Amino acid sequence: MRIVETTANGSSSSGSSGHTSQPDARGQRRKGFDYLIVGAGFAGSVMAERLASEYGQRVLLIDRRPHIAGNAYDEYNADGILIHRYGPHIFHTNARRVLDYLSRFTAWRPYRHRVLASVDGMLVPVPINLTTLNRLYSLDLSPQEAEAFLAARCEPLADIRTSEDVVVSKIGRELYEKFFRGYTRKQWGMDPSELDRSVTSRVPVRTTADDGYFNDEYQCMPLEGYTRMFQKMLAHPNIKVMLNTDYREVCEEVTYRKLVYTGPIDEYFHHCLGKLPYRSLAFRHETLDQEHFQSLAVVNYPAEKVPFTRITEYKYLTGQQHAKTSITYEYPSDEGDPYYPIPRPANAELFARYEALAEAHPEVMFAGRLGSYRYYNMDQVVAQALSLVGRIAAAEGFGVRAEVAII
Ligand code: FAD
Ligand code: UDP
Repeated sequence: MRIVETTANGSSSSGSSGHTSQPDARGQRRKGFDYLIVGAGFAGSVMAERLASEYGQRVLLIDRRPHIAGNAYDEYNADGILIHRYGPHIFHTNARRVLDYLSRFTAWRPYRHRVLASVDGMLVPVPINLTTLNRLYSLDLSPQEAEAFLAARCEPLADIRTSEDVVVSKIGRELYEKFFRGYTRKQWGMDPSELDRSVTSRVPVRTTADDGYFNDEYQCMPLEGYTRMFQKMLAHPNIKVMLNTDYREVCEEVTYRKLVYTGPIDEYFHHCLGKLPYRSLAFRHETLDQEHFQSLAVVNYPAEKVPFTRITEYKYLTGQQHAKTSITYEYPSDEGDPYYPIPRPANAELFARYEALAEAHPEVMFAGRLGSYRYYNMDQVVAQALSLVGRIAAAEGFGVRAEVAII
């Protein structure tokens, strides 16, 4: 077996020997690893860090990709600009505990996310707010008048079930069609009427001039990037990292007591109950020989005829100064890495059947966006990982710490 350490950019480098047994607290030798953790994204890496540094567990963390940090992976491209390989990742949370935990591994750059949408040939702010309405309709409404404007257009519904219901009942059909219908049909490959209400509920509607994309109390970016933060998290002698390594390749060869799996739960069970649907994205990264491309980090393109959903310009997120600028177009797709669990009743039912199967396999613990089949943000994944380690600690008699409660 080759144990691969991570380099400064988070990709794999040197090989070294297999893991040797170490004395435990009673001075006895323990063979192999305590934990095999599959997936070096937020879920796997936070669990590895807690189990190793808080509870002295020996962890083998594997990922089939050539880098740590999962979908949050960032890297300097050929032109020396820090980009996010898997699209824009902005940290936001209301959970002080999650922020405090991650702050052990990074300092932060204050950043408040704002987004524009290209609608009717104009660039207007999203979430829809007072400025959006005034610009779009050439009006000069006050917040009270904007409330009345939306109240006159919304279609109240007794039972709000779908992503169409939730928007139409708040802002009416015209604004729904301009901002949500096309974007959602592209992003998810289905009509908002077929998706759970939770999807479009992520985007608020406001009648004030507040144009922040998120409502969360804490919004910031890791000062030196996500990959650097993960490197610090995983720099513990009890954690070995193996990259370019699929679980199936090593599961028979590695000795471990417990398994944590943060890949797709249906894949772990060989899709025996059928495939859980995921939505993917193709990313087109470009570097332009100009200082800026757009006026802020993200511009959304809701029109269905435009094949991409949004363009991100990273320098606004990272604060990097550079003569050139790097941007990414996102093209939604059914093919490719599983990025988004698709929230709708039929999928929740299938996941519940996999969950029942998982309960019959207490030797493996599922975690993260793919293991839990939930449309989690980064902070929710961190909270879940801390909570799961708390449960492990209690079950194994490691002792429970106050910080592990979930948000
Ligand atoms: P992942 O990051 O997906 O990590 C799972 C890892 O497991 C992967 O690296 C994968 O290679 C590995 N793996 C899977 N199966 C195997 C196997 N069999 N063997 C070995 N390895 C395996 N969240 C925010 O809070 N803010 C944002 O702005 C934001 N923007 C996003 C933008 C995009 C385009 C996407 C797709 C997501 C965004 N998210 C954002 C969500 C965020 O990416 C996730 O919440 C978080 O990264 C999930 O972490 P995870 O560890 O659960 O999963
Ligand atoms: N959405 C939309 N128009 C927008 C922004 C968002 O229709 O301008 C919908 C779309 O369905 C999207 C969902 O709201 O998938 C959640 O948006 P968010 O920005 O949270 O998506 P993510 O960053 O997770 O891709």
